[in-house]
Amino acid sequence: MRRLLLAFCLLLPLSGLADERTISSPEGTLSLTVSLREGKLFYAVECNRLQLVEPSRLGYRTSQEDFSEQLSLVDWQQSRIDRLHTFSRIKTASSHYVANVLKATLKNRHGRLFTVEFRLDDRNLAFRYLLPKDGEEASVRIMEEMTSFRLPAITTTFLTPQSDPMVGWKRSKPSYEEEYEADAPMDQPSQFGHGYTFPALFRVGDRGWVLISETDVDSRYCASRLTDYSPSEGYRIAFPMAEENNGNGTSEPAMALPGATPWRTLTLGATLHPIVETTIPWDLVEERYTPSIPYRLGRSTWSWIIWQDPSMNFEDQCRYIDLAQAMGYEYILIDAGWDRQIGYERMPELFAYARERGVEPWLWYSSSGYWNDITQSPVNRMDNPIRRKKEMQWLREQGVRGIKVDFWGGDKQETMRLYEAVLSDANDYGLMVIFHGCTLPRGWERMYPNFVGSEAVLASENLVFGQAHCDREAFKATLHPFIRNTVASMEFGGTILNKRLNRTNDGGSIRRTGDVFQLATAVLFQNPIQNFALTPNNLEDAPDFCIDFMREVPTTWDEVRLLDGYPGRYVLLARRHGNRWWVAGVNATSEPLTLTVALPEGFRHGQLYLDNEQLAPSRRTIKLQKNTLPITIAPNGGVVLVER
Ligand code: CA
Repeated sequence: MRRLLLAFCLLLPLSGLADERTISSPEGTLSLTVSLREGKLFYAVECNRLQLVEPSRLGYRTSQEDFSEQLSLVDWQQSRIDRLHTFSRIKTASSHYVANVLKATLKNRHGRLFTVEFRLDDRNLAFRYLLPKDGEEASVRIMEEMTSFRLPAITTTFLTPQSDPMVGWKRSKPSYEEEYEADAPMDQPSQFGHGYTFPALFRVGDRGWVLISETDVDSRYCASRLTDYSPSEGYRIAFPMAEENNGNGTSEPAMALPGATPWRTLTLGATLHPIVETTIPWDLVEERYTPSIPYRLGRSTWSWIIWQDPSMNFEDQCRYIDLAQAMGYEYILIDAGWDRQIGYERMPELFAYARERGVEPWLWYSSSGYWNDITQSPVNRMDNPIRRKKEMQWLREQGVRGIKVDFWGGDKQETMRLYEAVLSDANDYGLMVIFHGCTLPRGWERMYPNFVGSEAVLASENLVFGQAHCDREAFKATLHPFIRNTVASMEFGGTILNKRLNRTNDGGSIRRTGDVFQLATAVLFQNPIQNFALTPNNLEDAPDFCIDFMREVPTTWDEVRLLDGYPGRYVLLARRHGNRWWVAGVNATSEPLTLTVALPEGFRHGQLYLDNEQLAPSRRTIKLQKNTLPITIAPNGGVVLVER
């Protein structure tokens, strides 16, 4: 009996704390279980009592200590967060973020402390590590994270691989421009053997969906990614590859203490609605500085997308300024090569031409620098603070409203510092910033008030570069609203009304999708500044109602609702701007798709834009007795419904 009692006592944790804690989300949709087993920390998540995330490892190793094994619990703390957030540049104008908070504080075998903070709302789990200042140590390198994501064996994946480093155009990869595969098995190796970039979407059979990403990434950490899958560990957090940024800077991040890692986020649901409608990337972050001026969001023309490099000349830019004026657009984006093909000396004349027509200029820059072989110019203007501020001073004097900074050097903390420095300096000079050839922005729409979008996707330029991209345009368009574009603005540069993707609309790639498909992408793809791919000839050769639509379509939204869809097959969603709903859908399947559209309440009058079976576009006025409408979308076709 005494021996039995002794054995029982030994099984109790020495601290007397239970080694497992379960919390539910406010409405009970999700539940999180955090447990310590044999000195290792795990978390698991259920949605509607079905397991979506199996016990998955937490912990990390620093340059000084191991916080992944031989851990013991010190404290559990629970609290609640209830906040109203407003947004100006994402999918919605507000969110009511209510989350239950669990903080698990642990110590390692040397008695050193750390905390894992979990926030669980009804559609997201977020967690991060809090590193205290504990003794003399005031800084630390994180050498490795054990942070992992183990999904049930029935799971299929919607992932895009991490590229090899220092390959591709002028050795400018990785730049989040690889292909997605839909409904792939977990155990197939990634294309390049380097795992996958965020965000990562998973379908857990009929139980539901999980979208994994991260947010609150700035100069204090690197951007992370997922490793390849392993049956024992699932997917783990990986740091950037050593070769990124031309080998400069470390893969491992470092921070001053006390510090915190970025938030890792899992959006979970029985359906895809939480995936499309989540605001978690922005609910967890704070504005880093105040805007120096009120930034005006809007639309732009840009010649480069169809007319390419030779169009960076004075006359062609004037034609695109004329186009912006004819469309009522706020901006002209003057892309790579302006410094050589027009010249710094003549730019004031071009700016004056724009100003007289009520159009304000944006200019393109390369970020590099020493991290690739890019010769598209200007180069070496944004990488160094002394040169950069001098350039930005000139831009402000010239009335330039924004810069597009291209060709970045990967995901190391070194590069994150440069993103933040460019944004912060640009704000000092009243400039908005979009990034191209770049990383996924992680909460930046809220963190940096002059950040207005990133590419980080195989964007419209690829349709011009190759027919294969045109052939798969619809497939990709049905992925982005569920994956890439749901966690961040996506500067796609689309809505092409040319039939052929060259200057004279008679050669180059052939567009496979309908005109209404193209209009629909202006609603489906969300970015607060839209550089549309319209060309001057579209004023004559595109249907008038398409041009009128493009004059009117907003770039900012107050609300989003997924109406229907499946990534890779079709999507139908509704966005509200003010008191009007814009419903847009596209079909990537090979068959006509008949849907009964359940319109937002009160939608009775509007205009219906539809591609027919031959992909001929039409527009008609509709009046509804009820809020459902049967429609058929042609393969490669689109639909848009605009409330009037
Ligand atoms: Ca690109």
